[in-house]
Amino acid sequence: MHEFSLCQSVIKIVSDQLIKKKYKSTNKINKVILSIGEIAGVDIESIRFWFPVVAKDTPLEKAQLEVKLKEGKALCLRCNYVYRLFKLYQACPNCESYEKHILSGQEMLVKNIEMSN
Ligand SMILES: [Zn+2]
Repeated sequence: MHEFSLCQSVIKIVSDQLIKKKYKSTNKINKVILSIGEIAGVDIESIRFWFPVVAKDTPLEKAQLEVKLKEGKALCLRCNYVYRLFKLYQACPNCESYEKHILSGQEMLVKNIEMSN
C-alpha cells in the first residue's frame, strides 16, 4: 500500500500546482508525467494501478499517467568510478567496494502537467 499513499501525494502535489496555475474547472488535465528513479523502491505497475483509483473525483480523474524512469547512478567513494546502479546494494564493478555516493535514481517527482482549456 506504499504506492497508494505515493499516489495520494502525487495528486496532492499536482492539485497544489493547479491552484498556482490558476486552474479552472473547465480546464482539462490531459497528462501527468512522473519521473521515478530506478532504485527509488517504487513499484511502477502498482503506481499505474492505484493512480486512477486515487484520482477518481479529482481534476485528475481523466488524466493519463506517464512514467519516465530515471536511471540509477553512483559514484564509487573508493576509486571514483561512476557506474550504473540497478539496485541499492550493488558493488562497484571496478573495485567491488560498496561505499558509494548515489548520484541519481532515488527520486520520485512530478515532472510535468499537461493541461488544455
Ligand atoms: Zn570503485
